[in-house]
Amino acid sequence: MKLIRFGLPEQEKPGLILPDGRRIDASAFGSDYDERFFGGDGLSRLAAWAAANAAKAPTVDSATRLGPCVARPSKIVCVGLNYADHARESGAEIPKEPILFFKSTSSLTGPNDPLVIPKHSQKTDWEVELAIVIGRKASYVSEVDALKHVAGYALHNDYSERAWQLERGGQWVKGKSCDTFAPLGPFLATQDEIANPHALAMWLTVNGVKRQNSTTAQMIFKVPQLVSYISQFMSLLPGDVISTGTPPGVGLGLKPPVFLKAGDVVELGIEGLGQSRQVAQDWAS
Ligand code: ZN
Repeated sequence: MKLIRFGLPEQEKPGLILPDGRRIDASAFGSDYDERFFGGDGLSRLAAWAAANAAKAPTVDSATRLGPCVARPSKIVCVGLNYADHARESGAEIPKEPILFFKSTSSLTGPNDPLVIPKHSQKTDWEVELAIVIGRKASYVSEVDALKHVAGYALHNDYSERAWQLERGGQWVKGKSCDTFAPLGPFLATQDEIANPHALAMWLTVNGVKRQNSTTAQMIFKVPQLVSYISQFMSLLPGDVISTGTPPGVGLGLKPPVFLKAGDVVELGIEGLGQSRQVAQDWAS
């Protein structure tokens, strides 16, 4: 299944993209895609509802805004330097263990919403990433069992303010958490939609110029490792998002570095997970 949420910000309704591409309103199913939904076997119940009701459900037209494909989760856990090439680009060593950091959940936004360049930002940058959405609570899970705790996957742009991430002391979280810094979607693809999460082409363009062009095969720590590893330090709750790191080609790594300014158009995609598009605008506008 491909799960979408649509409508005005903070008022999104649940929906689905059907195999024929039609977008439907799944409000009649009766639940948003939140912690309770995922934790209560919602995917199975939604599949049963869709089998019986999708054909006669109202269509969501293509002009309707999409929201983030999951309701605000308890946390967004990110993995740093998880692509060997990107680590080299950043001048960092290949990590021996996954590097973890948080992104505020208030940074979550719709896949095609504007990117708001934060107040006083000089170094806003892009990162196309594969996001994992947790389906069942994960606490001390083994790698063998890890995928049983995954609901599916989504496209994510892990926007980053590099000066605040790297030059202001302390944790990366300062440069990762601004409003609109986490466009998620267009849809959540359940695991059955993605035969192999480690063989997906991924790309990102800025104003039509290809900046990132790689594949999830380049990930250092794979999906089962990441879910298992993170669950040794915290409980991953249903609906939580893990963003798994970005390949080379971020603005910080260009010579000279390139950062986003108002009017720039960022487009990105991952094979099987659709595309998204953000137009940058200044904080005040
Ligand atoms: Zn990232």
